[in-house]
Amino acid sequence: MPASDLSLSDLPPSDRSAPELPDHAIQAHGLDKVYAPSGGQPAMHALKAVDLEVPRGSLFGLLGPNGAGKSTFINILAGLVIKTGGQASIWGRDIDAEPRNARAAIGVVPQELNIDPFFTPRELLEVQAGMYGVPQAARRTDEILAAVGLADRAGAYARTLSGGMRRRLLVAKAMVHNPPVLILDEPTAGVDIELRQNLWAHVRKLNAAGTTVVLTTHYLEEAEELCDRIAIINHGQVIACDTTERLVRRLDRKELRITLAEAIAAVPPPLTAFAAELDRDGRLIVGYHTGQTDIGAILAAVSDAGLTIRDLTTEEPDLEDIFLELTRAAPTPRPAPPPTVRRAG
Ligand code: ADP
Ligand code: MG
Repeated sequence: MPASDLSLSDLPPSDRSAPELPDHAIQAHGLDKVYAPSGGQPAMHALKAVDLEVPRGSLFGLLGPNGAGKSTFINILAGLVIKTGGQASIWGRDIDAEPRNARAAIGVVPQELNIDPFFTPRELLEVQAGMYGVPQAARRTDEILAAVGLADRAGAYARTLSGGMRRRLLVAKAMVHNPPVLILDEPTAGVDIELRQNLWAHVRKLNAAGTTVVLTTHYLEEAEELCDRIAIINHGQVIACDTTERLVRRLDRKELRITLAEAIAAVPPPLTAFAAELDRDGRLIVGYHTGQTDIGAILAAVSDAGLTIRDLTTEEPDLEDIFLELTRAAPTPRPAPPPTVRRAG
């Protein structure tokens, strides 16, 4: 096997089922990044003491608005940005102590579609395999191209590929050395809906086969649809990190709007327990969490107060609104780390 800086021999696929697998595909502690001032721009504190753990085997969403620090986080892991402070490891390998082994454990699909226009997909993958020291016999160029739906474009110049095809080619490139961790930075930028579904199907398949996947997005719905865990990052700080189910439940707040037959000046006592409010039109507004609040009890309280319901609606706030609300709020203490997600098989 040829010696190489980024030798695959450090990470044979069989190693992934070895007994001493790391519990966490990625771990970051106190990760900090300050971009130095340049070109009249002041210094930018892009990451502020970020603690984050990505359990092995998860499909993890790093969610946050533009400028939150998502790419900075990814690029530090990829060795493209030098951190200012803190510690990070990938597949149990510290990025300072074992930079090459750490990098060999991840494949990164960058946010920018930076592809040499005069390479064909097949050439690009071969060059990448060479860079990672993947021996000829272990190369899976055609298999990978087929997996991302580019088999019939294997010999076409990259400049002739559409945006969606380029995105998929970058996914293929990131998979060449068969890394246990795949990171996709804003993978749906410039990808149409149909191709997005294909891309997601492929990502799900990789994850089901054991690859830990981290993707960044500024769409809550995208993270919700795809990820089993979500961390929300804003202004360089992680403001929430939980299973998708728990996070969505936390965000799953609805409003009951009750129009009364009677005009009232204040919320009557039986309803204060539900933190009811009166809106400008004299309607009773009661916020509740689906599955947690007994709507019947709210309605009973209305009639206990001697009031008559004339009309009733429920409002579901836009998930995007709630997300913005959450990212505007002060950082909350993070919950205890969850149980590790075990890889199937
Ligand atoms: P996201 O990927 O979440 O949109 P980024 O990590 O790209 O966020 O950016 C976080 C912040 O750091 C932004 O304010 C951005 O302008 C700034 N930033 C990113 N890269 C650089 C850089 N190379 N030099 C200076 N500032 C940067
Ligand atoms: Mg980004």
